[in-house]
Amino acid sequence: MNASRIFLAGHRGMVGAAIQRRLARENVDVLTAGHETLDLREQADVRAYMERERPDVVVLAAAKVGGILANDSFPADFLGDNLAIELNIIHEAHRAGVERLVFLGSSCIYPKFAAQPIREEALLTGALEPTNEWYAIAKIAGIKLCQAYRRQYGRHYISLMPCNLYGPNDNFDLATSHVLPALIRKFHEAKQDRKSEVVVWGSGTPRREFMHVDDLADATVFLMRHYDEDGPINCGAGFDLSIGELAEKIRRIVEFEGRIVFDATKPDGTPRKLMDSSRIVAQGWKPKIDLDEGIADAYRWFLEHQAEEHSRTRAMRR
Ligand code: GDP
Repeated sequence: MNASRIFLAGHRGMVGAAIQRRLARENVDVLTAGHETLDLREQADVRAYMERERPDVVVLAAAKVGGILANDSFPADFLGDNLAIELNIIHEAHRAGVERLVFLGSSCIYPKFAAQPIREEALLTGALEPTNEWYAIAKIAGIKLCQAYRRQYGRHYISLMPCNLYGPNDNFDLATSHVLPALIRKFHEAKQDRKSEVVVWGSGTPRREFMHVDDLADATVFLMRHYDEDGPINCGAGFDLSIGELAEKIRRIVEFEGRIVFDATKPDGTPRKLMDSSRIVAQGWKPKIDLDEGIADAYRWFLEHQAEEHSRTRAMRR
């Protein structure tokens, strides 16, 4: 890759960590900075960092993220923190002369009732899904910032819209996580506690598209090399399944033998958000990780990580 220094913002998150693993296979220097040394919400700190480090490329994988209930509970964080992070990084990258930047968004930027599969052109053609509007508005602003700096200053800033992601380093906290890690945890704990049932939120009928985060990391590096256009580019698995089907799949992988019950008092969110990823496929990229294998991988990570957590808390009690 003809870039020697890449600043990866958000390297401790699920997406950032996967991109860091992927970039380790390239001949590049990856610059990272944790919360304790750089608060991305503080413009002055981001400016000082960019001026000092002067990266060749910036990958913006930092964001406040969460599942359907977290979005509803922390609207100020989801809108405010994300807007601040995006504006600070994109503006200060431009100011420091950074030519190339990759911004990571989300399929929730598209209208709630967009025609399926959703093409990039659907952006801003209809109302958003209210349960994740805060996050979606911030991500739309990020896309527009990339377009604005490209149009006004000729910067090569691109934006990539992934579908729902999962994998190592995911958030498994039941109050704030997305559905896939939540169900891994729920089925695992129900199996351990010999429970007879697991509660899945909503009706089970909404459909979602899931991709392993390592595929997304690979797409990020691919687009860094091959894509330089205005407007977002979709990146998904190419198929979706209902939450009920997902629950059944995870139940089988985790080997829980009880029942699945649906809690209709919890929100369903958008009915469907399958993206049309034909643009990235036409460029020569496609995902490689099978959903069943990917879920098994995420479950392994959860088991290992959970073991670490337990030994940490035991050590603290001693
Ligand atoms: P979304 O794709 O932005 O709606 O985010 P989520 O991953 O949080 O939710 C996807 C769908 O899974 C929604 O219809 C949820 O109601 C449903 N779901 C079922 N069980 C759970 C759960 O335990 N946690 C979460 N976050 N969602 C769940």
